[in-house]
This record gives sequence, structure tokens and C-alpha cells, in this order.
Amino acid sequence: MHIAKKLAQVNPSATLAVSQKTAQMKAAGADVIDLSVGQPDFTTPDDIANAAIASIKDGSASFYTPAAGLPALRRAIADHVAKKTGYRYEPNQIVATDGAKFALYGIFTAILDEGDGVLIPLPGWVSYVEQVRLAGGVPQAVKSQKGFKVTVDDLDAVVTSKTRALVLNSPQNPSGVIYTKQELTLIGNWAVRHNILIIADEIYSDLVYNGANYTSMLQLDHSIVENTVLVSGVSKSYAMTGWRVGFIAAPKKLAQAMATIVSHATGNPAAASQYAAIAAFTGDQASVEKMRQAFEERLNTVYPLLKAIPGFEFDGKPDGAFYLFPNVRAAVKATGFESTDKFVTALLDDTGVAVVPGRAFGMPDYIRLSYAKGLDDLVEAAKRINSFVTANGNA
Ligand code: PMP
Ligand code: GLU
Repeated sequence: MHIAKKLAQVNPSATLAVSQKTAQMKAAGADVIDLSVGQPDFTTPDDIANAAIASIKDGSASFYTPAAGLPALRRAIADHVAKKTGYRYEPNQIVATDGAKFALYGIFTAILDEGDGVLIPLPGWVSYVEQVRLAGGVPQAVKSQKGFKVTVDDLDAVVTSKTRALVLNSPQNPSGVIYTKQELTLIGNWAVRHNILIIADEIYSDLVYNGANYTSMLQLDHSIVENTVLVSGVSKSYAMTGWRVGFIAAPKKLAQAMATIVSHATGNPAAASQYAAIAAFTGDQASVEKMRQAFEERLNTVYPLLKAIPGFEFDGKPDGAFYLFPNVRAAVKATGFESTDKFVTALLDDTGVAVVPGRAFGMPDYIRLSYAKGLDDLVEAAKRINSFVTANGNA
């Protein structure tokens, strides 16, 4: 069996791998607290689920829809984006996709010729690097000189004449940092000057905490917006990871290319999921705020507990998304493990707490913990991690 050579460089998703392992452990009766995969623990709000059920019952979900999504969904997305950012797209600039994950993959497929580069700030979500490779491109990791946010100087150090795009994820998975308006403007103008497309992954834009300010790329000058493709979806804001609906909002030429790609690659996202997404975008947004408040309370509870663990260091408290990303180098050293990966494996085997090694995000000294879990589980997990570090420590 021949497998394409490019696959040799592509790793399976680390986030999904850890969560699969924990699901198996749970099924075998282990007492596991899974803080690995990033997905809300809430079920989809009833009004959204009911819209899908109605579309199945009345038969409208039985059929193909236009590949780029139902017209009503594309309109609902355009209205939703306009309400949130003040920038209005035409519905034909919107393409609905099978999750934001395929939105990103479709964009890379649309814009990259063999060997073209994409700037990916570190830390960055696990799939960016691998998707660029799958699309025949070259990931160009960008390290920040300071903290988790990159600057124009950091980008200048890596950019080449082959660079086509920059992925800008704010609020960021895994660190939870949010770029300020000023930082985005500097980067946006830099990208326009270099004719580099900005891929703004704003899937966590509703999950912002403790009064932090959030600016969308679409709130900047038109020259920047016209050089930007927005990626988002329903997974995180509406507790809909299983439904698989994401979207892009883009300049017409890119939206058309994307529509062609989805017409061949996936066809339309499941029709019932699209009806649910219409309800999500057009319905009462109270449940979004309720879930946001729950995440905020969890962050405020678990952050100090993790910060108190010997050898866990944070670069400030996260402002958004639902992850914590401590540097654990000192804890790994004190506990005598050879690497963060080994520390993470032993943590899972000994205590049942699953986290993701930072290597998956390009930062091997770190671990990622999702706090999209119940408060009791989070407090218990922090207790178990603390005991694990203390028990294994040679202090
Ligand atoms: N972007 C980021 C930063 C993410 O964390 C995720 C997580 N799933 C996605 C995109 C993709 O989301 P989905 O495919 O569920 O819409
Ligand atoms: N984006 C989530 C995470 O980072 C979901 C899993 C995935 O698709 O990678 O855990």
C-alpha cells in the first residue's frame, strides 16, 4: 500500500489522541478526569437542538443543500458577524464548512501552491502545522521574543518571499491570550504591506473573561479587513462540537475558491446541523452568556490552585478561550522525568488526570489543561496534580 510521502511528516491530532486514550481508560473503569480535549462539557441548548429535530421530522434535512450552505444559514452568519464586529459581508462571501477545522484546511488548499509558506505563531493549535503540510505548504513557525504574542519583529525574522498567509488566533488556543487592537493593527498593516493574507481564527471570540477587551480583525481599517479571512463556527460558543459547523467570511475571490473546494471535498455540512446553526445564530444568545460565565468562574477557581503547584509557572492569567498553559519545566525536573511527555503520561497513569503535552503546540516545556469541565472535577484534578508533583518531587 502506497501512502503519500507528505503523510510521513504529518502527526495525528495530539488533542484527539489523548482524549481517545482517556475514553478507553474510562470505559475500562478507570477514575479519569479528562482535561485534554477542548470542548464545552455542556450539551447543546434545547432551542438549537429542537430546530435540528424539526428539520429532520419535517423532511427538510433529508436532502443535499447548496455545498456552501443553506442561503438562510449564510445570511444568518453574515448578520451575526455584522452584529458582533460592525463589518457586513454579502452572503456570497460566506461559506459554511464541516467545522472550523475544515474551513482552515480549505483555505490552505485554496491559497497554497507547492512549497508556499504559512506563518504560524507559537504556541499554536495542533492542526495548523499539519494542515499546511497536508495542503502541500510549508509551516513557518514564529517564536515570540516575549510571552505568547508575536510582533512585527518576530514575523520579520521568519517571513520569506514564499510566505502567503499568517494564522492569527485570538483568543488563542492554548494560552488564552488576546491580542489588543493596537497589536492587531500593527500586524494587520504589516501583512497588507507584504501582501500576506491574514487567517483570523476567532472561534473563541465569545469566551472572554473578567472584563478583558476583545477586538476582532474585522474592526480594523478596511485595507486590513479586505486582506483577511475570518474563520469561526458554532463549536465553542454554542456547545456544538459534535454538530460540525464552521464557516469562513472572506473576500469574494477566496469565498468562491472555497465554495469550489467544498463542492468537491465534503459537499454541504449535514443539513440538520445547518438548521441547528441557523437557530444558534438567530436565536436568544442568553445561553452563550450563561456558559461564558460558567467558564469564567472555573478559570477564577482553578487558576490559583494550579499556580500554587510547585514548578508550575504562568505568564499571567488567561483572558479567553478555556485553556491553561503553564510552563512546567521546573516540575518535570523536580519529579525526575526525562521530558514533559513522560511527565504527562505518568500523570495520567498514576492519577487519571489527562492533559496535553505542550510539544503538540510547539512549546515542549508546557502542558495544556482545558477547564471546560465541572468545578468539582477541576478542583479534584488540581489536587491530584499537586499531590503527584509533591510525591514525586525530590525536594
Ligand atoms: N481553531 C481552534 C483554535 C480550535 O481550538 C479549534 C478546536 N476544535 C478549531 C479551530 C476547530 O473547531 P471546529 O472544527 O470544532 O469548528
Ligand atoms: N480544538 C480542540 C482542542 O484543541 C478540539 C480538538 C481538536 O480538534 O483538536 O482540543
